[in-house]
This record gives sequence, C-alpha cells and structure tokens, in this order.
Amino acid sequence: MAFVTEAVFRDDSYLRETEAKVVAVNDRGGIILDRTIFYATSGGQPGDTGSLVRSDGGRIAVAATVTGETKDEIIHVPALEQPVPSVGETIQLAIDWPRRHLLMRMHAACHLLTVVCPYPITGASVSEDDSRVDFDIPDAGFTKEEVTARLMELVRADYPIYTRWISDDELGANPTLVKSKNVRPPSGTGKIRLVCIGDNASVDSQPCGGTHVASTAEIGDIHIGKIEKKGRENRRFRIRFGAMPAN
Ligand SMILES: [Zn+2]
Repeated sequence: MAFVTEAVFRDDSYLRETEAKVVAVNDRGGIILDRTIFYATSGGQPGDTGSLVRSDGGRIAVAATVTGETKDEIIHVPALEQPVPSVGETIQLAIDWPRRHLLMRMHAACHLLTVVCPYPITGASVSEDDSRVDFDIPDAGFTKEEVTARLMELVRADYPIYTRWISDDELGANPTLVKSKNVRPPSGTGKIRLVCIGDNASVDSQPCGGTHVASTAEIGDIHIGKIEKKGRENRRFRIRFGAMPAN
C-alpha cells in the first residue's frame, strides 16, 4: 500500500525546518512521514538531503529523497548506519538549505532558458553547479553570449515567480502551455501545478512540480557555459552560475 505524504514544499519552497510524524519505515530502511519539506527527485531536479532529529536529540542523516510506489509517497533515504525511528514518533526536519537554494535558483534559470529558447524540450537536469536543457532544434544559430545576455535581461527585470493550480480541462484548452516534447504533465488527478513568471504570467507559464526561487533577480548571475550538438536535431544548453568568463 502506498502512503500519501503531504508535500509541504509545493506550497512553501522556502520552509527549511518543520515537524512531522513517522508513518512507516519500509523494508529497505526508507522513512515515510505524514508531511515533508524534502523534495523528492523528479522532473530533472534532484531530491533534498538534510537531517531528521529525534526527540532524544539523535540525528538521522538523509542522503536522498525519492518517490515510492506512487508520486505521492515520499521516501527519506537515510545515510548508512543511522538510527531507525519508530512509527508514530514526532521528528524535526531540516533540509540542506544552501544546496536546495542553489537548486531553486538553477531550476528557475532553466525556465528562463525555455523563454529565451522557445523550442520543444527533450530533456533537462538540474544540479547545484551545472544544469542542462535539451531542445529539439536543428540549428537555431544561437551563441552562448547572446543567450546569456537575454537570460540576464530576464534576471535583472526581477519578475515574480509563483505557482497556480489549474484544472485538467484548462490545460486541455491551452495545449501550448506544455513545452516538453515527450513528457506530458500528469493528468487525471484533476489539477495541475503551473509555474508562472511575471505578473499575470506575462513572461511564461508551464506545468512543473519542482521548487523555484520567488523572483528572477534571486537567480543571480548565470551564463551559458556551452551549447552542445547532441544529434542532428538536438542541442544541449548548459547553464552555470556566475558571470560569463572572459575569453
Ligand atoms: Zn520548474
């Protein structure tokens, strides 16, 4: 039987600490809580790491967070040789916030890249220092300098980034919201989470379950490190933090 974990990070991606109850420990030692601030790996964004602190002060290091039998079941994977909590126990959660904030900045930067480069997305992967987005384009003539300049215009404009829930029907009526070529947002649950950029989504909106910073300015300096050719009709853009290195 799959558990349903309340995914607190979906409504508040800035919550670094909270309290929860242990509802199960699975046969591989994975810890399932009633609610969590730990993002579980999905959609190209890696899951959170951090710690669970027991009432006796004992600390359980969380090495990874993944989904279980269903997307709604979130499993906290402990590092090796950690204490095992009891079912029903109340526990204090703390995510590795500096790492998560880097991932939120990078993830938001990937959204901006899809605005600058409005082509079908075939893949994406977010990490703390280097992210990539793959586009289905033969050769759009982009240079990394030009794409970087346009990304930084969006960053400096300090647009708000926020989420909004829409119905399956609303999404069906607006098929251009979906930018992924092969991945469809999960439908059938009745509602879809849209990530919007700009007042009234003037810059962008697309279905996404990840965590993002609250404004484009918070992304800070980023640049395109590389544009790689990955087949005849595929280009991989690599985003990195910091200003574009001179040379
Ligand atoms: Zn996203």
